[in-house]
Order: sequence, then C-alpha cells, then structure tokens
Amino acid sequence: MSAQAAQQAPAPGAESGEMPAILRIRLSKKVDCEKQCPEWECLQPSQFDKVWVVGELEEGRVSEPSLQMLTPGLELARKLYTSLEAVLIGGDREALEKAAREMIYHGAERVHIIHSEALREYMAEVYARVLAAYAHKHRPDVMLFPATMRGRELAPYVANTLRAGITADCIRFDVDEKTGDVDMIRPPFAAIMLAYIKTPTRRPQIGTARPNVFPKPPRDETREGELVWARAEDYGVPRPRSRVLRVEKIEKKEIPIEKAEVIVSGGKGVGTHEGFQMLEKLAELLGGVVGGSRKAVDMGLVPYERQVGQTGKTVRARLYIAVGISGAAQHTVGIRECGTVVAINKDPEAPIFQHADYGVVADWKEVVTELIRILETGEEV
Ligand SMILES: Cc1cc2nc3c(=O)[nH]c(=O)nc-3n(C[C@H](O)[C@H](O)[C@H](O)COP(=O)(O)OP(=O)(O)OC[C@H]3O[C@@H](n4cnc5c(N)ncnc54)[C@H](O)[C@@H]3O)c2cc1C
Repeated sequence: MSAQAAQQAPAPGAESGEMPAILRIRLSKKVDCEKQCPEWECLQPSQFDKVWVVGELEEGRVSEPSLQMLTPGLELARKLYTSLEAVLIGGDREALEKAAREMIYHGAERVHIIHSEALREYMAEVYARVLAAYAHKHRPDVMLFPATMRGRELAPYVANTLRAGITADCIRFDVDEKTGDVDMIRPPFAAIMLAYIKTPTRRPQIGTARPNVFPKPPRDETREGELVWARAEDYGVPRPRSRVLRVEKIEKKEIPIEKAEVIVSGGKGVGTHEGFQMLEKLAELLGGVVGGSRKAVDMGLVPYERQVGQTGKTVRARLYIAVGISGAAQHTVGIRECGTVVAINKDPEAPIFQHADYGVVADWKEVVTELIRILETGEEV
C-alpha cells in the first residue's frame, strides 16, 4: 500500500461501530509468564501500545530513511488501531525540534524528543541505553528503525536490553489477524520465498527496513502533532566507554548509489576493469553512477558500497541498466523500486529479463559502445 493510502484508508472493520477484532485480540492476549525472560517483570502484550518510529538526524536534519519508516509505521498503526509516534534522541535542541516537526508533517501524531547536552556526540551504547530505558517506561507495542548504519547498531542493542525480538531488513510489515502480532516479512538468506517472523510473547516488536524499501509519506505542513520533551538524565545516561577524539569527513565525490536517479550496473558478464570503465563512461553521459552485482564486487570490479541487492543496497533509480547480470533473486530484490529497468545479456533465458521493461539480447560490449557513441555524437535515433 502506498504511503498516502496508508494515511487515508480506514482500518478493516473500523466502520461497524463494534470493537474491531484485532483490537479485541490485542487487548485480551495473555502470555505465559513462565515463557518470558525471568530477568524482567512479566508484562502482558495489552500493556503495550503505539507504533514508534525511531528517527535519526543526519547533519542536523531528519534523515530520509527515518521519514520512509513512517510509511510502514502508519500502516501498522492503522491495522493495530493505535497511533503512530516518533522518537528522536540527541543533544541539539533546535535541530531535534525541526526534525520532530518534519516527522509530524510526514504522519507522526506525537514525537518524543529525548534530549541532553551529553548526547551531542553519537555513541551507540549511550543512545541505545537511554532509548531502551525510555521504551521500557513508555511501552510501545512496535518499534521500527531505519536499517542505516546507526539503526543497525541501535535496534539490536535496544532489543537485547529489553529482551525483545528483532527482525532486520524487512520488506513488508503486516498484522496477523488471529493473534494481533506483527508479521515482520523479509526474504530469508539465499532463498526466494518470504519469511513471516513474529514475536508472540515479548514486546515491543522491533523491526528494521533498509533505506528506499518504502517511499516516505507525503509531506503536509498543515499537519499538527504533539512534541513531548524528555530529559535523557531521567532515564540514566551511562558514561561512554569510548571517546570521540576527532571526526574526519570522507569526501564523497559521487552520489551514493541509493540516491542515484540513473544506475548502470555491471555483473560478472562485464568481467574486467576495462569493461567497468566503459560502464563509468556510459553512466557519466547519462548523469548517473555505476553499481554492480555481488559477483562483480567479489571480483574487485566495483566497491562493496555500490553492490545492489539483498546484502547490498536497495535502489530507487528512475533508470536501472543491468549489464551482464543474470538476475538472481538476491540481486533483483534490490531493484524492485526502480522505475525503468533495461537488461543487456547475451543469454535470452537470463532471469533478469523477467524483471526488465526493456531487454537487449546481445554482447554487452557492442550495445554499450553504440550507446556511448550515440550519446557523445548526439545522433538522433
Ligand atoms: C545470502 C546471499 C546474498 C546475496 N546477496 C547478493 C546481493 O546483494 N547482490 C547480488 O547481486 N548478488 C547477491 N548474491 C549472489 C547472487 O545469488 C548471484 O550469485 C549474483 O547476483 C550473480 O551475479 P552476476 O549476475 O554478476 O553473475 P552471473 O550469475 O554469473 O551472471 C553473469 C551474466 O552475464 C551474462 N554474460 C556473460 N557474458 C556476457 C556478455 N559478453 N554480454 C552480455 N551478457 C553476458 C551471462 O549470460 C550471465 O547471465 C547473494 C547470494 C547469497 C547466497
């Protein structure tokens, strides 16, 4: 479902006036305390409520992946008959407030802002422990994190501290109508089917999704919401076990692949550094960047941060040109959100053609050479 539809559509059964079945199930669900972790007091699922999206700031602004997570957040909140809230943590009050407003414009009803001067510097352990203590007190039913570098650090730390389950890299979220549990849906390793993962006894139910798997919800500056400020010290700010001595920014000359509008992606079929130089040339002429399959990465032809697919990046390019890539499921899962996919492969049976809008069965070198020539000469075709 699109972000807009998730914001607007009523949840199933909402019109009848009776208590919706899922809500009834959620409120009456009882778990056996024996099965819960003995380290924590036994809490029933009905003692937890709300869907939280944990947002993050990138250079003082709310990151795109944080806004994107509001889309599944809205849909889950609608299906669970609860509300969507966001949580931000950090040390820059002004930046936090601006970020919180952005999250409201994109669908959050309330934003919890956990603030402390001691949190100016990001430290995974410190942020995670404060977040976990905050979640332990306020008991969200669901916590969603973007699977960014930070989200990948924080989510498992919070999950482990709360002795809750976590499912990483989900591509969909749903609600099991029989149990009221959230289905965290993701491709299992090396397989083409989907795994539906639940946390039946523990709360919160924690999941992550990679950047670009969901579009961000539409922005509406007239939307209003509540800001709840919290002092991080009230939740215990631990002394960091490490110290940041210096921050060095790595100059990124190129657009990161997950933000590129045009990607020319090469596979094992391209085979050599010279071949990839030709793809660079084509990408440059099209105003795009080069990506690659895992085999191309393993061959040292393209750096890992440009790998597309299940264990690489999910991309949302307007134009994706797959050159000498067979189209394994672990690759194509990363290009599902692309606009137009063009495949160039000499094997007419290559699975990539099933995912392409346009296919060229030919030797890639001939096709790429001709494309470069046409783009350089400006010849009409
Ligand atoms: C757990 C797991 C995670 C994985 N994660 C990823 C991932 O994130 N991303 C990813 O890409 N893969 C991933 N893989 C690997 C994936 O299964 C494939 O092995 C890989 O995508 C294949 O790469 P390829 O298409 O470049 O190579 P191949 O499958 O070897 O295909 C090469 C293609 O090039 C074509 N070709 C050869 N010569 C020419 C020519 N002259 N002109 C035109 N076409 C030519 C061939 O017909 C062939 O179709 C993962 C695998 C596992 C098990």
